[in-house]
Amino acid sequence: MKFCSLASGSKGNCMYVSDGETSILVDAGLPFSILKDRLEKASIPLDSLQAVLFTHDHSDHYRGVASLQRDNPSIELYATEGTAEGIELAFPKAGLQWQIFERTTPFTINSMSVTPFPIPHNAADPVGFTLTSQGRTLGIATDLGQILPNIRESLADCHALILESNHDPAMLKSSNRPFSVRARIAGISGHLSNEDATEFIRRSGFVLLQSLHLAHISEECNSTYDAYRCMAEALWECGLGDITLSCFQQNEPSCMYEV
Ligand SMILES: [Zn+2]
Ligand SMILES: [Zn+2]
Repeated sequence: MKFCSLASGSKGNCMYVSDGETSILVDAGLPFSILKDRLEKASIPLDSLQAVLFTHDHSDHYRGVASLQRDNPSIELYATEGTAEGIELAFPKAGLQWQIFERTTPFTINSMSVTPFPIPHNAADPVGFTLTSQGRTLGIATDLGQILPNIRESLADCHALILESNHDPAMLKSSNRPFSVRARIAGISGHLSNEDATEFIRRSGFVLLQSLHLAHISEECNSTYDAYRCMAEALWECGLGDITLSCFQQNEPSCMYEV
């Protein structure tokens, strides 16, 4: 399988995953014109996409969906019921067609196996995913306030992992954001801090992991430098210093990674 980020952060999220036979997006949180531009930059033909999986109903994860399905009706949209309902509220006239999945029931999209798992986040019915094809597994866990045991278990056998490293707690605390917003972000249904992400990796005991990609990095309350530095330190400390580590950016596609 190969994968890349087309955008990652509070202004829009979209990832691409393909096993050569099945090509999908995870989230479509960019305006459609920008999404098309990023696909082009990453040399991904729009008509090669078969599906979009949605993690949850926050606009930074679904912003481009109505135009995407209008222009490409063959692309199937997969979401939990709560997520689909939430997204429909934003596009009441779009007539979006959904493939609904249960948040703990694995399913397949052609050659790709998808295993969703519930995550704690302030949305209707949010999930993370593991995607498996040809014996290789990619885990995706962003927009979650904490790592619960079911998440740890779901991600245990990943060969590659996309993990949220949203904020630096001190930068969040000293930011100009209202107290209620800061409390929501730092709360148990908010977003993982750099420390939360490193703590998870330190305690995870990963044996198959070959690459780790930090995602949903706050532009205001974090920096890719800090997120990378914290995680690189943790990886060395737990014997994973030789795996690939990268940070996904808000405004540029990442390079294409293999898993
Ligand atoms: Zn988000
Ligand atoms: Zn969110």
